[in-house]
Amino acid sequence: MGQLDVLVIGAGPGGYVCAIRAAQLGLSTACVDRWLDEDGVPAPGGTCLNAGCIPSKALLDSSHRFADLANRLPEHGIRISGARVDLAAMQSRKSEVVATLRTGVRGLLRKNAVEYICGEARLTGSGTVEIKSPDGKARTVEAAHIVIATGSRPVAIDAAPLDGDLVVDSSGALAFTKVPKRLGIIGAGVIGLELGSVWSRLGAEVTILEALDEFLPPVERQIADRALTVLREQGLDIRLGSTVRSTRTGKTSVRVIYSDREEAHRLSVDRLVVAVGRRPELDALGLEAAGIALDAAGRIETSSQGRTNVPNIFAIGDCTGGPMLAHKASEEGLVAAEVIAGHWGAIDHRCVPSVVYTDPEIAWVGKTPEELDREGVPYHSRRFPFQALGRARAAGDSEGLVKILAHRDNDELLGVHVLGAAASELVAEAVLAMEFRASAEDLARTIHAHPTLSEALHEAALASAGRAIHV
Ligand code: FAD
Ligand code: NAD
Repeated sequence: MGQLDVLVIGAGPGGYVCAIRAAQLGLSTACVDRWLDEDGVPAPGGTCLNAGCIPSKALLDSSHRFADLANRLPEHGIRISGARVDLAAMQSRKSEVVATLRTGVRGLLRKNAVEYICGEARLTGSGTVEIKSPDGKARTVEAAHIVIATGSRPVAIDAAPLDGDLVVDSSGALAFTKVPKRLGIIGAGVIGLELGSVWSRLGAEVTILEALDEFLPPVERQIADRALTVLREQGLDIRLGSTVRSTRTGKTSVRVIYSDREEAHRLSVDRLVVAVGRRPELDALGLEAAGIALDAAGRIETSSQGRTNVPNIFAIGDCTGGPMLAHKASEEGLVAAEVIAGHWGAIDHRCVPSVVYTDPEIAWVGKTPEELDREGVPYHSRRFPFQALGRARAAGDSEGLVKILAHRDNDELLGVHVLGAAASELVAEAVLAMEFRASAEDLARTIHAHPTLSEALHEAALASAGRAIHV
């Protein structure tokens, strides 16, 4: 192989998207990744496809259907008795979904003439990378541009060392072969709530220990408070202000010692999941050989075009600053490819949506009132409850609300926050509106189909203009 135009390290949603776009732009491109599936076959797709977004959503969707049988269908006049979970079938469906999508990614890389290399990459200079294949053989690849897209891995804590069996990280919790009777989770963040929901719906008694007193700090307060109430009602025992001090693993259970403000407590669980955040995956990369600078949080420092301090090296996705989200990684991948090919591109973190796939879902884009207060930005805030929505009532999904924050002077949308069914889909309209710097009035003057859940956004925008109809 002669010198490549682009070598992308990492084939997650950042890396493989970047590689495909670079190849489409006429650049000779290779993408290297070390991930192997359970049969030792190279597995592109990164954390998102292999151990993150996709397998977690497969289990969330399957468990949601099961929970609906008992919780939702009777109110629709449908009674089904004797339903039971076949966890092996549910898990094998999840694996098939992942395998099918992996085949799709491999096909896309092939179709776009991206060379896929399986192996672990290490920078040996600003234009050279050593790649060690799974059989231990090493070779050096030269590239005019290198894109680092190595993602992230779970943060470990001394108080709860993983043993891969009773104490696991999110990957372990996606692969349980039995529903634990008592499941403990450390961390009430996105992973704790999503995986807690899965196993609770399938029958586990779930206790989530969260060090902070505040529930979901990045989420608008009224929405976070309501979500906490609803999730607790669903059976998630979420204990805020609870810091894990130590764990002791027995043969079949784990004893957790944690303390709140008043005293120390004990909790015995059959499985424990540690979900306290993720950190950049940079250890094997040899960043020092290329002289790449990190930020204070230990992530690669980049410009809005994905440039590092080394001119021909770019970095994208979880290993850089900003939210650790697949769509943010992909967008940065597209931008980096365009910039390398000599086009213009820049990432705008203002409009990156976030979703927590609980039931109801929580989704938001833009600022919270707290952030606007801190920044001294004047705003007005209006809300609309799902209860007042015809379609939500008809579907039996009337839990939730939409909250719109708009600039007090020019009415520009500054933040949209949704708790409710299909919030992950509803937020897309808000993202588009904010991308176009629309005002709440623009949203209010947009005709929304009736009866749909999207009318909640419309009504909140009408309320923003003092013209609410249905509240
Ligand atoms: P990754 O997807 O982590 O890919 C990095 C790749 O680099 C990996 O394949 C790795 O093998 C490879 N690599 C690392 N180092 C080397 C090396 N030295 N040599 C060769 N290869 C290397 N985000 C969402 O937006 N929505 C969700 O619903 C969602 N759900 C999630 C659920 C879970 C349980 C988890 C853990 C995460 C979830 N995320 C979700 C986060 C999402 O997975 C990440 O933000 C996303 O995968 C980041 O993409 P990336 O390309 O930066 O890195
Ligand atoms: P997180 O940052 O969302 O939540 C971690 C939680 O653990 C925090 O609330 C934190 O206060 C708490 N915590 C930290 N140390 C603790 C301790 N010692 N004891 C008790 N609590 C402690 O991280 P996560 O849930 O691990 O998720 C990691 C990343 O993956 C997130 O950044 C997220 O963006 C991404 N992710 C996204 C999705 C999605 O988009 N739906 C789903 C899963 C994961």
